[in-house]
Amino acid sequence: MIEDRIYAASSILVIGAHAFDAEVIAGPLAAAAVKRGAAVTFLHLTMGEQGHPCLIPQHYCAQKDEEAGRAAARLGVTSRSLGLRDAFLPSNDETALEVCDVIRELKPEIVITHWHGSWHKDHRAAAHLTQTGVFFAALPTIASDHAAHTPQLLLFGENWEDDDGFRPEHLVDVSDGFEAWTEAVKEYELARGLSSFPYVDYYSALYRLRGCLRGTRHAQAFAAASHSWNAGSGLFSPPFGKEASR
Ligand SMILES: [Zn+2]
Repeated sequence: MIEDRIYAASSILVIGAHAFDAEVIAGPLAAAAVKRGAAVTFLHLTMGEQGHPCLIPQHYCAQKDEEAGRAAARLGVTSRSLGLRDAFLPSNDETALEVCDVIRELKPEIVITHWHGSWHKDHRAAAHLTQTGVFFAALPTIASDHAAHTPQLLLFGENWEDDDGFRPEHLVDVSDGFEAWTEAVKEYELARGLSSFPYVDYYSALYRLRGCLRGTRHAQAFAAASHSWNAGSGLFSPPFGKEASR
């Protein structure tokens, strides 16, 4: 069961296009995993600095950086950013190699990112960059400061902007991470009325809805990568059962 694999992990990496995306894709799950002893990192590819109606991007970037830090502290996760440009997130191999470096450095068993079916170009880019970053991270012929690494599981989280074709294949009990999440997202002005979209209402109801179907108080939904991609991305790992002999 995917839930057991997630909560058995010692390291989880959540990659979001903008600060606040990782928090909604996997915030309650992150808090629940931290309680079980995992080290969880949120990698914000951009800070989402173009999203304020009054502040210039430079000022809003500084604000979101502080908000992300406070939210991470509430969840018990580590927050870091690649500092790329909001609304112009490059969907290319060069940027995927930056993601690869983070994956190799942190060596997560679980990687979580956006579902690719999104109206938002940065979210589509984040999904592509993560999948390509995982692929690059496994290739031993790509030299970097860190050894090649293959995560055990790549999952795509649920985000209101990424609903094109998203199927909630796996429901994960996040009940004991929900309270920390409600405190964490309030650290963002985005969740306190800056946006016309009622984020807190939407995600609180969504996690409860998924919990109704999971049979728990709260749950989060995830889609998995295809079987062929999972098999192919592991090509450079030791053959099953051979790890001990290498
Ligand atoms: Zn976003």
